[in-house]
Amino acid sequence: MTDADIQKLEIAGEIIRPGTRKRIEISCAKLHDYTEMVIPVEVVRGRRPGPTLFVSAAIHGDEINGVEIIKRLLARKVVNRKTLCGTLIAVPIVNVFGFNSHSRYLPDRRDLNRCFPGSENGSLASQVAHVFMTEIVSKCTHGIDLHTGAIHRSNLPQIRAHLDNEETTALARAFGVPVVLNSSIRDGSLRQAAEEKGIPMLLFEGGEALRFDEKVIRTGLRGVLNVMGEIGMLAQRKVMALGQEKEVFIARSSHWVRAPHSGALRTRRGLGARVDEGELLGLLSDPYGDSSVRVCANKEGIIVGITMIPLVNQGDALFHIATFDDTGAVEEYVEEWEDR
Ligand SMILES: [Zn+2]
Repeated sequence: MTDADIQKLEIAGEIIRPGTRKRIEISCAKLHDYTEMVIPVEVVRGRRPGPTLFVSAAIHGDEINGVEIIKRLLARKVVNRKTLCGTLIAVPIVNVFGFNSHSRYLPDRRDLNRCFPGSENGSLASQVAHVFMTEIVSKCTHGIDLHTGAIHRSNLPQIRAHLDNEETTALARAFGVPVVLNSSIRDGSLRQAAEEKGIPMLLFEGGEALRFDEKVIRTGLRGVLNVMGEIGMLAQRKVMALGQEKEVFIARSSHWVRAPHSGALRTRRGLGARVDEGELLGLLSDPYGDSSVRVCANKEGIIVGITMIPLVNQGDALFHIATFDDTGAVEEYVEEWEDR
C-alpha cells in the first residue's frame, strides 16, 4: 500500500478525508426476509498522517467483551481528529449474525475465524471474511482483534501473537497484559490472512463468552491505547498517563489438563493461580460423593484458562496451563494485576 493509497481512504464507497470522523455501514448479506445485514464501522482519521489501525471484535458473535472495549475506546477523549496521528478503524461487531443470535458461528454453522481470507463466491462465512479483508484489513498497517474464551470457558487476559515477527512482538509487549502466548498461525484465521499481507496483528483474549467482565474490559481498553502509543498514533505522554506495564511474560508453551474421569468438578485453583507439578487442581465426584478422582497439574505453570461448567465428561478440557521460565515472577505480576 502506497502513501497515496493511505491518503485516499475509502470504505464501502465512502471517502474519509484526513481530519474527519465517520460512521459507515458495510453491507455484507441479506437475511431470508431481505433484511440487510451491515457491519458497523467507525473511522476516526487524524489530521496528521500516521498508521492505520483496525480494532475488531465479535468475529465470534458471542464474544462480547471486545464490543464494550471498542465502545469505550471510541468514547475516550484522546481518540479524536486533533490528537490522533493516522487512522483508527473500529469494527465493534464483525459477525453481526452471531452477535444477534448469541452464537459463535454464522447461520451456515461456520466459524468465521476459519474462513479467512474468504472469497466473493464462497459460503456466507467466506463472503463475510472477504468483505472484511477487502474493505478493512487491506487498508490497514496494523490490527488488533478482540476475543474471549469460548462458551463456558474463561481466560486470564492474554495476548496471542506470532512472536517470530519482531514488530508483532513489540506490539505484544506494548499491549501490556500479564501473559503473552506465542501462537502459531491457524489456517483460515484473520491473523493468518493479515500477516500474509504483511500486517502485524495481535489477538487479545480475556473473560468468557456472553459475559461482560469489567476487569478484562479495562485491561483490553488500556492495551489498545498502549499499542496506539507504541505505533505513534497517540502521544506517549497521553498513553503513559494510563500507567504502563513494567514487564510482560511470554509463555514457553501451554497445554490443557483434561478430565481423567466424568463427574462434577469442584475446582481448588482458579484463573491466574500458580500451580506446581502434581498439585491438586480439582476433584471430580459422583452424585453421592462416594468416589472422587483427583485432577492434578502435570507441570508447573499459571492457569490461563478454565472451564466454567462443573459437569464434565472424561476428556473435557478443564484447566489451560501456561509454562514460563520464571513462574514466580509471573505469579507476582498476576497478583498485582488482580489487586489493581
Ligand atoms: Zn474468539
